[in-house]
Amino acid sequence: MDRIAGGLLGVHAGDALGAGVEFSSWAQIRDRYPDGPREIVGGGPFGWAPGQATDDTDLTRAVLLAYLTPSADVVRAAADNMLAWLDQGPRDVGAATKAGLSRYRQTGDPRQAGAGPGSAGNGSLMRCLPTALAVAERSRRIRESVEISAITHDDPRCTASCVAYNENVAALLAGASPADAVQVGHSATSEPAVRAAIELGRQLKLAEVAVTALVGLADQARGYVLDSLSLAVAAVLDPRPLPDVLVDIVRVGHDTDTNAAIAGGLLGVRDGLAAIPDKWLAVLQFRDEFRAAAQVLGRRRPGVA
Ligand SMILES: [Mg+2]
Repeated sequence: MDRIAGGLLGVHAGDALGAGVEFSSWAQIRDRYPDGPREIVGGGPFGWAPGQATDDTDLTRAVLLAYLTPSADVVRAAADNMLAWLDQGPRDVGAATKAGLSRYRQTGDPRQAGAGPGSAGNGSLMRCLPTALAVAERSRRIRESVEISAITHDDPRCTASCVAYNENVAALLAGASPADAVQVGHSATSEPAVRAAIELGRQLKLAEVAVTALVGLADQARGYVLDSLSLAVAAVLDPRPLPDVLVDIVRVGHDTDTNAAIAGGLLGVRDGLAAIPDKWLAVLQFRDEFRAAAQVLGRRRPGVA
């Protein structure tokens, strides 16, 4: 339960930590925060309150709520929750998310939605975690990881990234070491580009990247799903404490909130809730709700008394 809560609140904390400097470059962040942004202060281009959920947390919550409320079709429930969120007029919506949900509205079928193959943004990877936390059976977990991604992001790089990430999470939950868990994620997909992104993540040293900006990513961490996946793999393999690693993810720049949300999910599952600083938890919008959700999911897992 501690790891489940850590994962959910790791996404939330990463999102909130990065939101204040979203779209800033590495150099702009260095000038403003020479030691990295270590406090959740809000602000950023969308004027967030400190700890306010942005799309990363809101859509993770949309998927989470689909699993908490039993239904015949969790994929449809997730799609409905995402559409309800879109209809509230959120201030920050990704292009593929908007296009995929619009297609869902037209077809009424979450398996006939999606923005189509193309730019392969990180908008489904940022919200895929609840499937790994809720589904203990591997084949079902993989199928739902794909289908929930494809509601909006049906490019194979996106769906396969969600599979690799969620199998990595499942292995961590089962007690695997980070290195073994990364290998489990790697083995779960045959998509060559996703395997290559995981290989790159194994080689990245975040502490060096954060001070040199020599990141070597395909799209310089500007929202490409494989960049975010590489950074998340580097994060979970980084032996330092969660806050230090997450701050360094934000220091890389550009899509800071989403990169940190994705890495934060893996780090939170690796290290548990207690690894997230109290001063961060104190301001998170859905702190109590996510903690309660973790209790529910934890009690449902096989082998948990
Ligand atoms: Mg965001």
